Amino acid sequence: MSSAASLLQGQASHSATAYPVRLSPEVLKRRVGQRRHMLAVQGVSYSLITSVLLVYCYAGTVPIIIPSAYFLSGIGLLSIFVVLSEAHFNDRFEDHYLTIFQVAGHVVIQLGFLLAAPGIGFVFLSVVFLIFGFGALRMTSRQAIITWTLTMIGLAPIFLFTSTPIGLPITTQTERVAAMLSFVLTIGQCAFVGLYGSTMRKMLYDRSFELKAAYKRIEELAELDELTGSSNRRSIMRMLEEEIDRAARGGSPCSIALIDLDWFKRINDAYGHPTGDEVLRTFSITTFANIRSVDRFGRYGGEEFLLVLPGMDAGQAMRALDRLRVIIAELDWSAFSPGMKVTMSAGVAMLNPNESSDTFLARADSALYAAKAQGRNRITRA
Ligand code: GH3
Ligand code: MG
Ligand code: MG
Repeated sequence: MSSAASLLQGQASHSATAYPVRLSPEVLKRRVGQRRHMLAVQGVSYSLITSVLLVYCYAGTVPIIIPSAYFLSGIGLLSIFVVLSEAHFNDRFEDHYLTIFQVAGHVVIQLGFLLAAPGIGFVFLSVVFLIFGFGALRMTSRQAIITWTLTMIGLAPIFLFTSTPIGLPITTQTERVAAMLSFVLTIGQCAFVGLYGSTMRKMLYDRSFELKAAYKRIEELAELDELTGSSNRRSIMRMLEEEIDRAARGGSPCSIALIDLDWFKRINDAYGHPTGDEVLRTFSITTFANIRSVDRFGRYGGEEFLLVLPGMDAGQAMRALDRLRVIIAELDWSAFSPGMKVTMSAGVAMLNPNESSDTFLARADSALYAAKAQGRNRITRA
């Protein structure tokens, strides 16, 4: 997973409330990795701002204590979060980044330095933008309102009740360089945050497609017979009900055929069960290749299959099944084992008015029984 995506993992989970869910070791490990990444990014950000402060120090605008203290307080705060993260304290909360506490902590540092070095106050104010940009990726609107209100409460007295001038001095050339660096770095980091956001959107977009495809596949698998790839019993029975309804509504004929392979026990006994499975698969594929796209074909059980033939009357169904019977009987089964012969028998029935699927199937089953009784490798009509 991309780093940006990893930062956004668990986007849907937000509040820093106790989190009772037991997480697997892999999830815990992944979360620690995501947090390390997030904290490292913040460490880089503090280093960049400190470099701007060092230029201001070089220009003589602020004493060295300002960049030093800024760097130490930033890294100090990050260290606390690192310790908490490595100790898995964060995993007790739904938002394991502890976003609201991070935002609050970093804003407090900026406000402190706004008071300590108001002459270059715009540097710290622009960092507040960054903090909120980062926080907004993970905060709920409620958390954003809380942190924004607290920031406002912190900023209001500084702006309204002190006469301290807040500035970004650009008198000397070095100060101009520092000011430029401050803006350039802040803009760069803002773009970086924006990039996180777009990566997240893309990741979620891709994920939704993957989920849809997986769901479709699950649906397909739930409908198919594992061995033969034809519809499973539940599915072919549903299709039969649908076709009965359609025929009743449209007044068109509908026929079915119950097909059973002849002497299949003998095939298993003579050539082995795996070969028997191959025969079932080949029978299924051959049938699929020789029926219409509107026909429905599924495994009814064992080596018994149900073929639903919408729009066909009994005569048409008999002819279609006899054609299939010949194809199966004439297939070169010796490829499986020399001398192997496979035939099928089928019982055909045409839907009677107001007939239920049970009696419809029962009539086809009696016809199949008759086909077997009459010597097999034949199609009999109900
Ligand atoms: P008949 O002509 O009367 O239908 O004879 P038959 O031997 O086919 O009789 P029956 O229908 O009673 O036997 C079906 C056999 O099919 C029994 C069972 O071992 C076998 N069978 C059922 N499902 C599978 C399967 O998934 N794979 C394999 N290899 N054999 C199966
Ligand atoms: Mg059989
Ligand atoms: Mg059978």
